[in-house]
Amino acid sequence: MARADVEPTRPEGDLDPTDPWQREAQTFPRLSEEMVERASRYGGAEELPPHTPVFSRGDRGRDFFVILEGSIEIFEQDDDGTVRLLRPQIAREFTGELDLFNDRMILVNGRTGPAPTRVVRIERADFRRLVQSEPDIGEIIMRAFILRRVGLIRHGQGAAVLIGQAHSADTLRLQQFLTRNAYPVRVLDTEQDADAEGFLECFSLTAAELPVIVLPGRHALRNPSLAALADALGITEDFDHATVFDVVVVGAGPAGLAAAVYAASEGLQTIVLESIAPGGQAGTSSKIENYLGFPTGISGEALAGRAQVQAQKFGARLAVSREVTGIDCDDLPYRLKLDDGASVRARAIVIATGARYRKLDVAGFERFEGQGVYYAATAMEAKLCEAADVIVVGGGNSAGQAAVFLSRTCRHVHVLVRGPGLAATMSDYLVQRIARSKRISLQVHSEIVGLEGEQGLSAVTWRDHRSGAETNKPVSAIFAMIGAEPNTGWVDGCLELDAKGFVVTGAAAGQGADSPYATSRPGVYAVGDVRSGSVKRVASGVGEGSVVVQAVHRFLHPPEA
Ligand SMILES: Cc1cc2nc3c(=O)[nH]c(=O)nc-3n(C[C@H](O)[C@H](O)[C@H](O)COP(=O)(O)OP(=O)(O)OC[C@H]3O[C@@H](n4cnc5c(N)ncnc54)[C@H](O)[C@@H]3O)c2cc1C
Repeated sequence: MARADVEPTRPEGDLDPTDPWQREAQTFPRLSEEMVERASRYGGAEELPPHTPVFSRGDRGRDFFVILEGSIEIFEQDDDGTVRLLRPQIAREFTGELDLFNDRMILVNGRTGPAPTRVVRIERADFRRLVQSEPDIGEIIMRAFILRRVGLIRHGQGAAVLIGQAHSADTLRLQQFLTRNAYPVRVLDTEQDADAEGFLECFSLTAAELPVIVLPGRHALRNPSLAALADALGITEDFDHATVFDVVVVGAGPAGLAAAVYAASEGLQTIVLESIAPGGQAGTSSKIENYLGFPTGISGEALAGRAQVQAQKFGARLAVSREVTGIDCDDLPYRLKLDDGASVRARAIVIATGARYRKLDVAGFERFEGQGVYYAATAMEAKLCEAADVIVVGGGNSAGQAAVFLSRTCRHVHVLVRGPGLAATMSDYLVQRIARSKRISLQVHSEIVGLEGEQGLSAVTWRDHRSGAETNKPVSAIFAMIGAEPNTGWVDGCLELDAKGFVVTGAAAGQGADSPYATSRPGVYAVGDVRSGSVKRVASGVGEGSVVVQAVHRFLHPPEA
């Protein structure tokens, strides 16, 4: 493999993991002599004999190594001891990937190569200082780490193996969780994949136990809950439950991640609690085209991944698959209750729990959730409906995006709306794309009245409510995008909510002088889609999450009278 010395790096927006030049040169860059010299000041030089282990899959919080001489081999190891060398890293290269910014378990192993090796070992706290104090080196490291994770995902290296029927709701649930948490996964579809049978035999698994997740060196997890899976993969950060955080951000959508970046970068001890995965609703968008700075659009997953790394770079903690179920709001510091029975204490709270899509009001739809009825249209769902007709229900921008995206792979997309058209509810650029596409048709004044199918969805009936005429078509998937409900069940009784359940803030909550994001409780703020009257957009959520931190500071450190 070619190696490249560090050149002046391209701007962040140009990071394109599909460009082979960028991929190799920026994934495994060599620091200049001068950079190595500067980085060395943050750690200590060590001589290591050949084949010395330096880190192992499953470790947490390992050190960062810059190689001065010799090499460090990065490898995977199967349960039977078979070693697969992924890449040797040589002089002036460095080890690590995204896990160095957080406390997750690492995915691969490292050992010194066949020759004696000299390294600079930099401990975790000093690594963070290095990244923040030497921005040119920090940028190279950050870029390399993101690309290394992209590479692991693309090549299924360090991956969990998910075995199940691709169309089953539980297989999709687990695959979505892994993908949205940027965890490499290889899916073996038991209906299609020739290897699947061997796997099942090897682990003595029956079809009834599917889906299962197989991790090297561990028992197979049979249809685990998301929390159990997150714990087994080590992707939830451990934290000391006795700590009183300056600010706890609830929800890691765009608004919560923005709040975490600003709070942590301004020195507040910050933790983000997220029930599923970073990105929120935006994380399920195939392409966000109206977010400033990304003229060709950016997928929600990529945006969320970058924001997460940015927050963690500044020292924010992120606990995923940890749902907040309640809040003791009469005691200060506040106590947030988690679904696993634990609790977290906070001097201030930023609520950024957003919203979720409403369910379809059609008899029997629950039976098809995850196997014909979906609430997101990402590459994963698009694969499930290749060469079939699908329906998108809804007239908002998310429905428009989904229709355009799905029309690339699905045979035909029917967009169903109750109203007379899209103009009043959808951005014009999407309305125009839908109108021009031969593979999308718009059904106005229509609603779904019947679903059919044995294991998965196979046909749908909709009715034109002007004429009463019914249409029945073979359809493999419905994408329901019909407005959102706030995720505020857990604050009920503590904060003032509006008639639809969104959190009331600012003057309406009696806290107007403090901040437009202040709720009816001191030190508790709400930002993004969960806030009553908010504009439901990525940019507005990010804006609110960024500026609320000023109010948090004022609350924690009131100006002297
Ligand atoms: C498919 C789709 C496409 C979209 N496209 C665009 C677009 O192109 N441009 C645009 O500007 N906007 C778009 N939007 C809207 C945009 O995504 C939202 O406005 C934005 O994500 C709101 O951000 P948020 O952080 O306020 O909330 P959310 O994104 O809803 O995030 C809330 C987070 O909180 C977590 N959470 C909820 N309850 C709890 C709890 N009790 N404990 C812990 N965590 C919890 C959730 O899991 C979630 O991760 C789109 C939305 C969708 C669904």
